[in-house]
Amino acid sequence: MRISIVSIGSELLIGHTVNTNLAFIGESLAREGYTVDREVCIPDVPDIIEKTFQEQLSLADLVISIGGLGPTRDDMTRVIGAKVTGAELRHRPEVLEHIKTYLGPRLSLVPEEALLTQSMVPENAEPLLNHNGTAPGLWCPRDERTLLLLPGPPRELRPMFTQKALPLIRQHGEPDSCRRSLTVYGIPEATVADRLESSVSFPENVEVAYCTRAGEVDIRLTAPPDMAVELEQLIEKIRELFGQAAVVDSVSLSEAVGKLLKEQNLHLALAESCTGGLIASAVVEPPGASAYFQGSIVCYSNDTKTKLLRVPEKEIDQFGAVSEPVARSMAAGALKTMNAETAIAITGIAGPAGGSKEKPVGLVFIATAVQEEIKVNQYNFSGNRERIRNRAVTTALNDLRLHLLKHRSEIT
Ligand code: ATP
Ligand code: MG
Repeated sequence: MRISIVSIGSELLIGHTVNTNLAFIGESLAREGYTVDREVCIPDVPDIIEKTFQEQLSLADLVISIGGLGPTRDDMTRVIGAKVTGAELRHRPEVLEHIKTYLGPRLSLVPEEALLTQSMVPENAEPLLNHNGTAPGLWCPRDERTLLLLPGPPRELRPMFTQKALPLIRQHGEPDSCRRSLTVYGIPEATVADRLESSVSFPENVEVAYCTRAGEVDIRLTAPPDMAVELEQLIEKIRELFGQAAVVDSVSLSEAVGKLLKEQNLHLALAESCTGGLIASAVVEPPGASAYFQGSIVCYSNDTKTKLLRVPEKEIDQFGAVSEPVARSMAAGALKTMNAETAIAITGIAGPAGGSKEKPVGLVFIATAVQEEIKVNQYNFSGNRERIRNRAVTTALNDLRLHLLKHRSEIT
């Protein structure tokens, strides 16, 4: 099945809204083994929408359109969708009923006309009822092909896509691939690729792709749909090859850390200087983080380090705020002040200013504490301020993950 996505919205083209719906649909389809051939992003201009629908319907079996299904004048997608699939728009009483039920007491606030507009459905189309908004999605067949119209607001689109559209897509066409992925932390991309390709041999029809982010490398395997078992075995081989550096499948680093903390009934405290709260933000991403996360002290000034984290003043004078002993004391202070058994402390120079010959921009000390044991690693990250800070976050979480794994193996 050839799939195209059409994102409609002038706000997407001028950068006011990030096209998160594309990422969501792309990811959902990829997980199911469907391949999206292309995406086109266009403004809310009827002529352009019509021309793009025609074009994409000549190229793809399924064209997924996002946005412009609302009740206002500028929401033209429904009308144009009916036109290009050669169908009349008809009033559908069951859609109107659903919208009224959905609105409940708010019904009186919505003009009658808006309700009628949104309950118009192309005659041969199947409406996808919306449980998080008013506009239904529309599955509109045209000969052997399909134009699927979805609403723009992500909180409406996401559940509708997962619950209503995916089952129809599955009925409509077989997946053309299966995929598995794995993330390796703390090893550069070139080394990952080198090690992988010299030790694992891949069948010709397995495609290996790498995607690098700050401090992490995703390895993605894609194969024909009947090779799920082989992919599983290959992933297992790769996991063995990289040992503790590897985390399998869509588990994020914060989730992996959270799982280890919960399983060992440990609590985490943070002391962040150069990352200014970014680690805390990553730690609270998985729901349920409150079970193990105590808090974070963002200690930028020396004064804060001494007052809130009890870092000895003379240590800062003697070694400087960005130093191994200070990182160690920050971790010890975080454990005590926040009543935790584990901690991450980080101090570094993110730049662009503040570097020197002895302590260049990118120098970062990361301390991790698990029970009594504090380990400090020194890093020299390259890149601009943003990249250095992002790498520091990933590296810090990974250092803690490795420290927790070591602790677990020691106590069991
Ligand atoms: P509404 O009834 O709200 O008008 P609609 O189907 O007409 O729904 P749009 O008007 O296109 O949708 O967009 C509504 C909201 O959803 C806007 O805030 C818009 O920025 C957001 N949105 C639209 N498309 C996307 C997208 N591809 N990714 C993320 N947000 C989007
Ligand atoms: Mg709209």
